[in-house]
Amino acid sequence: MTAEILDYDDALAAYDPVLGLEVHVELNTASKMFCGCSTEFGAEPNTQTCPVCLGLPGSLPVVNGKAVESAMRIGLALGCDIASWCRFARKNYFYPDMTKDFQTSQYDEPIAYNGSVTLDVDGQSYEIAIERAHMEEDAGKLLHVGGATGRIHGAEYSLLDYNRAGVPLIEIVTKPIRGTGARAPEVAKAYVSFLRDMLRALGVSDVRMEQGSLRCDANVSLMPKGTVELGTRTETKNVNSLRSVERSLRYEIRRQAAVLSAGGRVIQETRHWHEDGGYTSPGRSKEQAEDYRYFPEPDLVPIAPSREWVEQLRSSLPELPAVRAKRLQSEWGFTDREFGDVVAGSAIDVIAATVAAGATPAAARKWWLTELARRANETDLELSELPITPAQVAAVQKLVEAGTINDKLARQVIDGVLAGEGEPDEVVRARGLGVVSDAGELEAAIDKAIAADPDAAQKVRDGKVQAAGALIGAVMRDMRGRADAGAVRRLLLQRLS
Ligand SMILES: [Zn+2]
Repeated sequence: MTAEILDYDDALAAYDPVLGLEVHVELNTASKMFCGCSTEFGAEPNTQTCPVCLGLPGSLPVVNGKAVESAMRIGLALGCDIASWCRFARKNYFYPDMTKDFQTSQYDEPIAYNGSVTLDVDGQSYEIAIERAHMEEDAGKLLHVGGATGRIHGAEYSLLDYNRAGVPLIEIVTKPIRGTGARAPEVAKAYVSFLRDMLRALGVSDVRMEQGSLRCDANVSLMPKGTVELGTRTETKNVNSLRSVERSLRYEIRRQAAVLSAGGRVIQETRHWHEDGGYTSPGRSKEQAEDYRYFPEPDLVPIAPSREWVEQLRSSLPELPAVRAKRLQSEWGFTDREFGDVVAGSAIDVIAATVAAGATPAAARKWWLTELARRANETDLELSELPITPAQVAAVQKLVEAGTINDKLARQVIDGVLAGEGEPDEVVRARGLGVVSDAGELEAAIDKAIAADPDAAQKVRDGKVQAAGALIGAVMRDMRGRADAGAVRRLLLQRLS
């Protein structure tokens, strides 16, 4: 099943990849694009339908104004121009999940066009030109039963659920992305991640890749190094995680390089990504736009948003994630490298919340990127899903700063909070974790350590202060870490002076 592939470095030594990314976003409007049916995810099949979204004869669509507004906000956030007049078009094709035999989409008159976004990938900046963002409707969902892979091939029968038919979609299409070289797969992943964060900040979609509310089709072609003519591209469909965006492109670059370097031709087609096996397989040969016989949708009036509306939407856009990230880095005083770690660890939001709860940025960063990142990793959770809140992390740090606990004990406090034992101060009390500051108790432990190691004690008396380390270690062990090492040192040196 898997094709011949070339080593990635060899592929990149001979060819330059050119990317094209098409991202479909399901909007989170309460009702569908052209009717009043609910868009709620996960309902009983075929309970959210009506004559319009079932495409029954004589039914007439009406545009969802909220969806148009969301489309314009997305366009503005992508730096696009907003059309002053545009129409829907019928994209004609037969598929069982599309009862009308056409999808209502936009063709040569998209609502938003000519945008651009700037991505930062490991300190390098990439400009991604946006060709268009247009409105359309989602299709129904086919469930193939009986096959091993859930695909139609080998299935005994198929079930249809039209709840999704007519859910508003925005398709965001880039212009060809050149010049990314070996980093093409990473740049693609960063772009989809950027879109996800941006769409979330706009509040226009749930952006859940695993539920299909954000879907990426990844186009790639290869140009022999030193040439300028675009090669034949393939389109890998419905790659449903950020990691798959990167992996599928990496695979497809290696596969196409193997085809080309063996003197073959890449076939223009859609391909399917197989997450488990880590490879793509051929789908259908790719239609050209003319195959769809697009024509303007006669049942819908054109969309002509006033310039006042556009400007009002522009001025009410929220602070977008890229801008916010720049602002926070400067406020927190992090170097590019420090902030890069925060971004890579998906820790911006939790750190921001911890700082808001009173911790210093450095302390918040330390806890989330070390101890808590490790716990998240062990339990396969996002940082924000860990059963500890930013406010609790800030409280742990306050206990450290107050001298109630040290860093080592703080880890045990975090253990307790994660285990559901309550707030940090409750965990400190219940587990008896407070640092012992009672001088009497410390002095008793110091006396014990001196008695156990008289040689070391004599060395300290003779002025060899570094010999105190062994004694301090013994005291800390004796107190099971519940002592402040600085205080132990001070008391010990006093005792032996
Ligand atoms: Zn409906």
